[in-house]
Amino acid sequence: MSNIRVRFAPSPTGPLHIGGIRTALFNYLFAKKNNGTFILRIEDTDQNRYVENAEQYIKDALDWCGIPADETVGKNEKFGPYRQSERKEIYKKYAQELIDSGNAYYAFDTAEELDKERKEHEEKGKTFIYNWHNRKRGRLVNSLVLSADEVKIRIENGDKYVVRFKSPEGEILEMNDIIRGKITIDTNVLDDKILFKSDGMPTYHLANIVDDHLMEISHVIRGEEWLPSMALHILLYRAFGWDSPEFAHLPLILKPTGKGKLSKRDGDKLGFPVFPLAYTNEATNEVSRGYKEDGYFSETVINFLAFLGWNPGTEQELFSLDELISAFDLSRVNKSGARFDPDKTKWFNQQYLQKKADTELAELFKPFIANEMKQSTSDNEIASSYTPRKDEYIIKVVSLIKERATFVADFWELSKFFFIAPTEYDAKASKKQWKEATPQIMKDLVEVLKSIDDFSSQNIETIVKEWLTKNELGFGKVMPPFRLALVGAMSGPHLFDIADMIGKDETVKRIEVAVEKL
Ligand code: GLU
Repeated sequence: MSNIRVRFAPSPTGPLHIGGIRTALFNYLFAKKNNGTFILRIEDTDQNRYVENAEQYIKDALDWCGIPADETVGKNEKFGPYRQSERKEIYKKYAQELIDSGNAYYAFDTAEELDKERKEHEEKGKTFIYNWHNRKRGRLVNSLVLSADEVKIRIENGDKYVVRFKSPEGEILEMNDIIRGKITIDTNVLDDKILFKSDGMPTYHLANIVDDHLMEISHVIRGEEWLPSMALHILLYRAFGWDSPEFAHLPLILKPTGKGKLSKRDGDKLGFPVFPLAYTNEATNEVSRGYKEDGYFSETVINFLAFLGWNPGTEQELFSLDELISAFDLSRVNKSGARFDPDKTKWFNQQYLQKKADTELAELFKPFIANEMKQSTSDNEIASSYTPRKDEYIIKVVSLIKERATFVADFWELSKFFFIAPTEYDAKASKKQWKEATPQIMKDLVEVLKSIDDFSSQNIETIVKEWLTKNELGFGKVMPPFRLALVGAMSGPHLFDIADMIGKDETVKRIEVAVEKL
């Protein structure tokens, strides 16, 4: 394909929901796959809904996901400005062009007048549509019924107006969507959408079409909620005499139940993030959770989003961004809604966690260790039992426990006994495993351990097992209380690995403390 240019065109009205990131991702993948350009355009013409920190949030989110734009505000501004609020003059000119060519007209109806029309229609069980059916009836006030002079006077007097698109009458419009195929629509059901207002601001429709044309967009890839606007957009391209880009409307992302669209509110209600990054609403101070802050890797987010509406047609589920770029194809995007599955996102994170290098995970783990120690400074028992450890030690710990973790935040619970002696013993396990004969057996075990010079996992295991056999001691009599003494519970990795890691002195000490306490 030649000269592929796609855009992600969010309105900065708040944080981007993961559905928005999915749209950005599919645009990005399509661009990269076809050696094209991915553009980020900020559609901020609706000043009432504008939110100050939202544009920065959008950029940060794309950066964190690793899918930054090639062209945007402050970056390769070949077709700039990339903020619609800075392009106002451009839209005015094009609105005028449509009026001059007879494809648009001025309408002076006030909000009250239109409300009245709506109510009267409702009373008769009808829906009011501002279009061919009634625009010339004389009840509506527009340049199709007023004389040129009257229009001129009204505008000169500063009367408020809007510019409406004059949608064609009685035409069956045939359109093509890459994902949905052929779509036909009867233009008689369309309303004459507002394109421009007397305050000098365009509406979404006009600004979007003009910019897609001027920015030489080849493919419009966006959410299904914009499908109803496609006819108007195609008619606008035609009215301007421009070639229209190709369209692809992505399927909705559905709630985990499969019923209804996943909304911004669902995250709080259902207990998972719906935003890539945490977001603080500056007006209300309300904080929404983000995938990043909840401990998900950006690889996870990219991977699970790619599968919301697309699949590679093979069994492979784990895809790096580069693999997604080569596998991605719009022809494999589904029409039907994609159910969001929070458990699957966790599964992806667990998979990516296993793939990460232990050194990287250890770095991520360190702040958690520091935090645990900070929190326990008031607890002398914990603080005094803590041994600061070298990086190599932490790396080793990570390698021993990571297979049972989904998040780095799970590491501490899975590994704290590598850093601090148990302060409590699991009650149920103690009752079951710590019998009358146990203290003596543990004391004997201490003697055996003390005699070992090479205190490596393998060697400890060999010697302890020899001792067990020689004294005809069952495994079950020794190993569970031994574990309880070192870990405080029946969980954890291979016990001799733990002993090796914490060292001979600490191992002996923990058994002695357990004998005393239990
Ligand atoms: N500004 C629109 C939005 O917020 C853009 C829709 C489109 O891609 O055409 O999603």
